Amino acid sequence: MSTNSTKPAAAPQRTTIALMKRIARDYMKEHTASLIVAVLLMAVSAAMTAAVAKLLQPIMDEVLGGDDTKMIIPFAALVMVVFIIRGASTYAHTVLMNKVSQSILGQIQKDLFNHFMIMDLGFFHANPSGQLISRVTNDVTMMRSAVANIVTDSGKGILTLVFLVAVMFSQNVNLSLVAFTIFPLLAWFVAYLGKRIRKISRNLQGGMADLSDKLSQVFQGIRQVQAYGMEDHEKKRAGKAIDQVRKLNVKSVQIGNLSTPVNEVLVGFIFFSIIAYGGYQIKDGIMTTGQLISFLGAFIMAYEPMKRLARLNNTIQSGLGAAERVFEMIDLAPAIHTPTRGQKWKPKTPDVVFDNVTFAYKNAEGQNEEEKALHGISFTAKSGKVTALVGPSGSGKTTIMNMIPRFYDPVSGTVQVGDIAATKLNLSFLRNNIALVSQDITIFDQSIGDNIAYGKKGATQKEIITAAKAAAAHDFITAMPQGYDTIVGEDGVKLSGGQRQRIAIARAILRNATILLLDEATSALDNESEKLVQQALKSLEKGRTTIVIAHRLSTVKNADNIIVLDNGKIIEQGTHDTLMAQDGLYASLYKTCLKG
Ligand code: ADP
Ligand code: MG
Repeated sequence: MSTNSTKPAAAPQRTTIALMKRIARDYMKEHTASLIVAVLLMAVSAAMTAAVAKLLQPIMDEVLGGDDTKMIIPFAALVMVVFIIRGASTYAHTVLMNKVSQSILGQIQKDLFNHFMIMDLGFFHANPSGQLISRVTNDVTMMRSAVANIVTDSGKGILTLVFLVAVMFSQNVNLSLVAFTIFPLLAWFVAYLGKRIRKISRNLQGGMADLSDKLSQVFQGIRQVQAYGMEDHEKKRAGKAIDQVRKLNVKSVQIGNLSTPVNEVLVGFIFFSIIAYGGYQIKDGIMTTGQLISFLGAFIMAYEPMKRLARLNNTIQSGLGAAERVFEMIDLAPAIHTPTRGQKWKPKTPDVVFDNVTFAYKNAEGQNEEEKALHGISFTAKSGKVTALVGPSGSGKTTIMNMIPRFYDPVSGTVQVGDIAATKLNLSFLRNNIALVSQDITIFDQSIGDNIAYGKKGATQKEIITAAKAAAAHDFITAMPQGYDTIVGEDGVKLSGGQRQRIAIARAILRNATILLLDEATSALDNESEKLVQQALKSLEKGRTTIVIAHRLSTVKNADNIIVLDNGKIIEQGTHDTLMAQDGLYASLYKTCLKG
């Protein structure tokens, strides 16, 4: 099933069977051999448990009750061996199952992350990073314990029960029937609890995702938080999210453990029946003491796996609550549909053509917002020329630029690159031909050199330095303690805004792409370095299709074509001189810019 929206549909309740089938099909199949071995080991361990119960009878009746001392040592030794085998097989199956479940966990995490990599920008706006991180960590971890427990508790639990029940029946059929009135009652109660647990678990996982989202927002914006004295406000918000998770956790334990008192009451009743009935049977000489002791032993030993089976459903249901959250993400189709093969344009610098493009962002419900961001945008950015997009903030400049690498597709109209509709192009070919310096620059937690090399796979140190020089970044980089090897920290915390921009420009220069997109690429630079960078960009623009959005209009004065936007519409278009002569929005923006 695939949903075509940016946000997962609200709680699609899938059946337990469907979810388990999917986990088995997608993730457990390749571990079949290990699973078989693990189950065999569990069978050995279960059989040894039953053997202990079975041995109680001859020990009571013949070894302890009889007069023959010959059998004391052999029986004692036999019991010891049984325990040794049980210990070894239990250890082996536990370790093996853990290996399998860890590997399933890792696979699901990889699948989830790989899926995020093909999702579109709209998806990331709708799902904050903290939420996504929580799906990869908390939800998958929850699934793992369910996967491990399903096999261990159910496999071993059922096997142990089967063997013990066999022992019980072999000792006394009537008593066994009495003891097993407990099962239908327990089964009903377990199913009832399971439903409640699954719902709580979904909410709990959601709560944890909210919490990690709040935390990541605060940590990212810590400067704002402290500068505006919002620490108490954030403490309250985080406290609320923490309390929410705590309450749900408490509730989950409360509900989950309800099975314990119910079990105890039922078992108490069964014990009463066994002892009363068995007692009279021994007095009447129908049963031996050894048989009753063995029967009781088997029942007591059966109690533990029974309890575990009763709780197992809770674990499974919590796991499935998390699995639903994981699969609904994996099943989301990206909004950017890419052709399976896709065309490429001829190896020349392409024109970028917008033909009557209309665009609306999606709201939280995944619907197009009524207020459109772009209305009927048509223009051509000629190859080898510089096209500038200008207009007040919020007029749609960045939105237009984002449609060229297909971060978003138009709602109607087409974007053509090199005479081919962008939607028909091979997506990685298209993006490989674009160098983008966006408004929000990301600097990764790596060395400066690696950050620049992000623009080109396998760039040499020499190429990196050349690019940095062109971006007027070389000097400040070499002034740093480790030069190009300086680790700049998450989001480039060790760099100023202007330095970050120069790194981003160096990255774009290194990419050497035919289409160059600069979104306020020099806005944070001081006049001095802006002049340097502008010179570098000028030489870079030669032989490329360049689209620039500039903060200072003085820097786009020389553009071949200037497109003036207001409220998502093109209202003027032309060179600096013609636009000044028109004395419209551009002229007034330019004049204010000069004054400021
Ligand atoms: P500019 O770059 O010219 O300042 P943008 O293209 O960023 O303007 O924004 C154009 C309009 O689209 C604005 O009204 C803005 O609020 C809206 N917008 C921008 N990004 C998003 C988004 N991710 N989701 C919803 N609306 C957005
Ligand atoms: Mg913008």
